Amino acid sequence: MFYSDRGNVYHDIIIIGAGPAGSIAALCLAKSGFDVLVVEKSNFPREKICGDCITPLGVEIINRHGILSYLEKPPHKINSVKIIVRETLINQAAFHMKPELPDFALSIQRKDLDNALILAAIDAGAKVEKNTKVIDFIFNDGGFASGISVYKDDIINDYFADVIILATGSSDMKLLRKLGVSIRDYPSIGIAIRAYFSSDGDSGDIMELYAEPDYWPSLGWIFPQADGILNVGIGHHINQKSAEEKSLQKVFEKFIRGSHMSATRLSKAQLISTPKASKIFMGGLRGSLVRRGVLLTGEAAGLVNPFTGEGICYAMKSGEFISRIISEIPLRTKETIRAIESEYNRAIRHSLLKYFSLAEFLQHRAASRFVTINMVKLLNRSKSLSEFNIRFWVKGF
Ligand SMILES: Cc1cc2nc3c(=O)[nH]c(=O)nc-3n(C[C@H](O)[C@H](O)[C@H](O)COP(=O)(O)OP(=O)(O)OC[C@H]3O[C@@H](n4cnc5c(N)ncnc54)[C@H](O)[C@@H]3O)c2cc1C
Repeated sequence: MFYSDRGNVYHDIIIIGAGPAGSIAALCLAKSGFDVLVVEKSNFPREKICGDCITPLGVEIINRHGILSYLEKPPHKINSVKIIVRETLINQAAFHMKPELPDFALSIQRKDLDNALILAAIDAGAKVEKNTKVIDFIFNDGGFASGISVYKDDIINDYFADVIILATGSSDMKLLRKLGVSIRDYPSIGIAIRAYFSSDGDSGDIMELYAEPDYWPSLGWIFPQADGILNVGIGHHINQKSAEEKSLQKVFEKFIRGSHMSATRLSKAQLISTPKASKIFMGGLRGSLVRRGVLLTGEAAGLVNPFTGEGICYAMKSGEFISRIISEIPLRTKETIRAIESEYNRAIRHSLLKYFSLAEFLQHRAASRFVTINMVKLLNRSKSLSEFNIRFWVKGF
């Protein structure tokens, strides 16, 4: 391994990670005229373990930034949600949320979505270094990060910036630890596994969510995609009683091959990918979202709904928040990071964290079979209650 002898490289803003949070922040900041560098460890397009479903709130963001024009083929539309508990369809509703939001969700494989997002950021003027892993921060005398060390092709380089944004999802705990973030700072940790199936013909336009006593408290999903593909998965909170990380593969087997409705639904479908699992940081990071001068966004900041595991729209939304706040605060003053920190924490707390706290409270209750079954029975009593339930989980800001 060699250290580069290149001089110091400076940018206005460095963003670590080109997922939905990093790319949307890069796109918005580049559009506002900042010199933005995105550093991404993978080569794109790259796979990301996900359910690939973007609910109306996320669709609105994608539309507003013209992201669909960067996709090679149109995405698959999902028009409604079904919830199946104990072999019984108990809740079904269309996505009629708010007049200002689209009334459908989209299913786009993450290798395509994330590639489209980073292409849009590049078109807006952001520079991107792929295949480049951030391995450390460089701290100034005041203890704030003023730069990063990156590793590529056996060479280490140092880059410096006025503002550093961390958007690494849940995949780099080592880097988070360098900022003093520990796994215990996330109120909720999930683990989920997913695989692709090829169905006979059209995959439909309904997303299906499943809960069964046999694999309780895990929740399963079958999400339709283009070309007859289905994204199938199951996940649970690792702190839940009876839900152990090591048994997730077995739970998934029950979900896809057991005697339940989910398995019947998949009986004619072929498994076409290896099932893969990943952890999920949920519920909003405890304490400040700015650590040692670095702004945490998306899943690295725990911005994932602790009830549903949904995180794409919150990642993009937090990327938008960050860029708006940075654009409003003059860079290169002593107070820059402090001012950004207080405004960013306030914005996220106000718009997301209260909702996540309620979601987490409900999630703990839902771990009880009795509560969930009676709750969903109640919601199913009328169409408006059923729609209210769906609207709550796919809410706007
Ligand atoms: C099985 C599963 C199913 C899910 N299903 C859904 C769903 O259907 N809908 C939904 O909305 N959410 C879903 N989620 C959650 C969603 O995937 C995440 O919330 C979302 O991807 C977070 O986006 P992000 O930009 O914060 O991070 P990520 O998408 O994880 O992007 C982080 C990026 O940072 C890069 N990176 C990491 N470390 C470094 C480093 N050291 N240097 C440089 N680059 C680095 C990574 O390569 C990656 O490209 C699911 C999650 C799982 C695990």
